Amino acid sequence: MNAFFQNKIKLKLENRRNELEVRISHLDADKRRVSGAIPQDFSEQAIAITNDEVIDGLDELERNELKKINSALVRIEHGTFGTCAACGDEIESERLNAIPYASICINCASIDLD
Ligand SMILES: [Zn+2]
Repeated sequence: MNAFFQNKIKLKLENRRNELEVRISHLDADKRRVSGAIPQDFSEQAIAITNDEVIDGLDELERNELKKINSALVRIEHGTFGTCAACGDEIESERLNAIPYASICINCASIDLD
């Protein structure tokens, strides 16, 4: 993989990481606010709980993505980025453009869905 392309992907990953970190800190703040004030009325309480669950779901997705991004950045540091973790082949650049944190190539991904 050429250095220019890898740099482009690295920037993409770093931008997305910053975005996610901001979103996650906002979600954390939301959660504290919601759980801090429990409404007296039962129906309001039910709504608050539902919101909490939605926030938890989002949170988990974004934390997961953040984890994948961080490990992709580590692979860049170690010079193993762009190599399929399953078969050792080079990961297609189209795939990395679409999913910059992909750790396996398209062939392996089609066998075993990440
Ligand atoms: Zn592979």
